Amino acid sequence: MSKHYDLIAIGAGSGGLSVAERAAKYGAKCAVIEANELGGTCVNVGCVPKKVMWYGASLAHALKDAEDYGFNLKTDGLNWEKLVMKRDNFIGGINDWYHDYLAESGVDIIEGHANFTDDKTLHVDGESYTADHIVIATGGRPIVPEDIEGAELGYTSDGFFNDIDEEQPQKVVVVGGGYIALELAMMMQGFGSDVTIMHQGWPVLIGFDAMIKKNLRQEMQSSGLIINDDDIISKIEQQNDGKVTIHIQDGNNITDVDALIWAIGRKPNTDTIGLENTAVKVTKTGMIVVDEKEKTTVDTIYAIGDIIGKAPLTPVAIAAGRRLGDRLYGGMPTRLMSYDSIATVMFTHPPIGTVGLSEEVAREQYGDAVKIYKTEFVPMYHQMTRHKPKTAMKLIVTGKEEKIVGCHMIGLGVDEMLQGFAVAIRMGATKQDFDDTIAIHPVSAEELVTMK
Ligand SMILES: Cc1cc2nc3c(=O)[nH]c(=O)nc-3n(C[C@H](O)[C@H](O)[C@H](O)COP(=O)(O)OP(=O)(O)OC[C@H]3O[C@@H](n4cnc5c(N)ncnc54)[C@H](O)[C@@H]3O)c2cc1C
Repeated sequence: MSKHYDLIAIGAGSGGLSVAERAAKYGAKCAVIEANELGGTCVNVGCVPKKVMWYGASLAHALKDAEDYGFNLKTDGLNWEKLVMKRDNFIGGINDWYHDYLAESGVDIIEGHANFTDDKTLHVDGESYTADHIVIATGGRPIVPEDIEGAELGYTSDGFFNDIDEEQPQKVVVVGGGYIALELAMMMQGFGSDVTIMHQGWPVLIGFDAMIKKNLRQEMQSSGLIINDDDIISKIEQQNDGKVTIHIQDGNNITDVDALIWAIGRKPNTDTIGLENTAVKVTKTGMIVVDEKEKTTVDTIYAIGDIIGKAPLTPVAIAAGRRLGDRLYGGMPTRLMSYDSIATVMFTHPPIGTVGLSEEVAREQYGDAVKIYKTEFVPMYHQMTRHKPKTAMKLIVTGKEEKIVGCHMIGLGVDEMLQGFAVAIRMGATKQDFDDTIAIHPVSAEELVTMK
């Protein structure tokens, strides 16, 4: 006998939890199936531990700057184990909170790995479950190269957060050119590790505005991070002392590496859930094909979050899950998810904030109607410090009315600056609206409303 629900979400990450909570709020009988900890990637091995570490690395920068502000500081350095333990306790608290919250919301938790046996049935540890609506929200996992001998000696971002808990790795090599690679590299560099980032060919951050890539590279170089754009890794070997040697094709090997981190992309968890027993279609890269209502090629199965390959970000998975709940059970059939103009922040040092079109894409779409406003300056905070990371800002506008279609920033504080501007841009703000807004002084954000 199988147990029946109105809605089952596979995966209790950002997307699965959100759709189940929202559907349950409308009275639907819901369950989430989870093979690991509640909260998924974001809570356990993504945004949350990453941001805690980013705060830590930001403090390391601030401690250096403090001297320039006249403080005489003596520190005994970083107690990595303490930081990791506190981080993990914080995450444990979130996991516990989810258990309580789901219980209060009337959502059942089914622990284990779900597999479809047909379009309507899921198997978990020998039990079967059916539902009127099944939502696949199984997220992704980091890729480890299959063609490099010894690749398993490296960590992924999951391993970085789960396994490096006793000592700070002093020599770190990060392979990759996406935001996860750059965030991890700059975080470890902030903590004082000797960091090399390996990426075959620059630019990194595909799709980001050119100004961001240029300024980020400058900052990486000036802060002492080694950027290696050329070398190709042929083999990884464990040394007798437990460290690894990275063998380079026709080049100098990198020895004594404490942590090699692969951050070369993520693979959707759609090849491990029995989709072959259903009529759900996936793309060549394994992403689930959905329509504008996140419905798959099977009427009763939906897919949200990272596995649909649109915008792999937590708030996107959450918003899609909530809207799906509203449509299915809340009497709001037209409440669709929009994947346009999603603001996002990269937690590098300094951070990056971006919303809307890059200059390159804007020019492709709007041609000569595009106009650019930009500025670059050393923020007041860094007028006092020896290290002077610049802030750069760019507004991309189109047409006579100068509608803002892109806003890109890198610099101190832009992470907290972007959200409000994203609201204005989503509402159709023009350059004149920005000009008419009285500046706040003295803050870096005032530059965005005073650009000429
Ligand atoms: C290092 C890192 C940093 C990140 N930083 C940010 C950030 O700063 N901001 C941001 O917005 N996003 C960030 N992200 C992205 C964010 O974590 C994801 O976009 C988000 O978690 C996607 O949610 P999801 O519900 O699609 O999947 P997930 O959160 O990945 O959840 C999927 C869940 O499904 C479970 N599962 C998989 N298969 C099965 C199965 N067959 N049966 C049962 N359970 C299963 C998994 O165990 C997992 O818990 C980061 C990601 C990483 C890796």
